[in-house]
Amino acid sequence: MNTFTLENLLRPNIRAAKPYSSARSEFTGTADVFLDANENAFGSPSQTSTNGAYNRYPDPLQKTLKARLAEIKHVAPEQIFIGNGSDEVIDLLIRAFCEPAQDELIITPPTYGMYEVSAEIQNARVVRVPLLREGLTYSIDVERLLAAITERTKIIFLCSPGNPTGNSLSADALRQIIQGFHGIVVLDEAYIDFAPETSFVAELGDHPNLVIMQTLSKAWGLAGLRLGMAFASQEIITVLNKIKPPYNINSVTQQLVLKALENTVWKERVVRETLEERRRLEVELPKFSVVEALYPSDANFLLVRVTKPREIYEALVRQGIIVRDRSSVTLCEGCLRITVGTHDENTRLLAILNTLPI
Ligand SMILES: *Cc1c(COP(=O)(O)O)cnc(C)c1O
Repeated sequence: MNTFTLENLLRPNIRAAKPYSSARSEFTGTADVFLDANENAFGSPSQTSTNGAYNRYPDPLQKTLKARLAEIKHVAPEQIFIGNGSDEVIDLLIRAFCEPAQDELIITPPTYGMYEVSAEIQNARVVRVPLLREGLTYSIDVERLLAAITERTKIIFLCSPGNPTGNSLSADALRQIIQGFHGIVVLDEAYIDFAPETSFVAELGDHPNLVIMQTLSKAWGLAGLRLGMAFASQEIITVLNKIKPPYNINSVTQQLVLKALENTVWKERVVRETLEERRRLEVELPKFSVVEALYPSDANFLLVRVTKPREIYEALVRQGIIVRDRSSVTLCEGCLRITVGTHDENTRLLAILNTLPI
């Protein structure tokens, strides 16, 4: 039995807060003269790339975009929240539920760094329950995680496939945690498009306390436009809408993303190509004597344990290739995280590794 109630979980000030009412959200009819928002009726600079456009505020609730995302993700538009990157979603969730200097959230290191950064800004206490590492697989320590929950625990952040591990977490373990906790479970699926596992979005109806995050920054190749999504019950989405900055997604992003989402064939092809290139690196990297272990990946990167991470990192930098040195991260000792690049980029990476004097 999940005795989750959103009302009790929310910070009292957030429950009571009245959202900012923008000019555009107060007027809902049709009109053609807009003198309500102190915009510039003359337009924007002409003969530049703005060419007179963008003088109006964007749709605060991104209705057109959500309608399209709803089709792609098979959820109701009311179950979608759009943030200025997943980073904004993480920040809003922590601010909605964690009372500063009182409440706690749980993370499972090694994991994505932004959960902790946002928690620190809100002064929410971070409780760490490390993943279990057995051989080359990282998994959730379900028992320890459930035991770490206190009266003050408001959110558990889980990431699957994980960053920086690349591993997917077991769906059964995820369900045990979602059902065993009466607070919010955030499941970060930033890399789900690369994984054989199916998204938990299909199970949203079963879990009133589940928030799933996805992003257009990875498989869709739109990191520069900043668009992160949260899928959850309508009740939770309403809270996020209430506390977000009114115009958090700018017009350019809304328009360009809508166009980009037409080309699902491109996205699927690029995911396929990424997986082929990952496979190539999985075959080639272990041939180097400096490579000690390669963690299995369901994402667009590989976690690689090497003999001398710092030296290899610096040797690559000297040749113009940047990877992520994760060797100082808990349970990632000796590891570099290497994003799968294009065929030519990966060829260059392998060529340089070949010449390493290490
Ligand atoms: C890349 C990544 C994101 C995406 O963040 P955006 O702010 O949407 O670009 C989210 N979570 C994880 C774990 C990531 O690695």
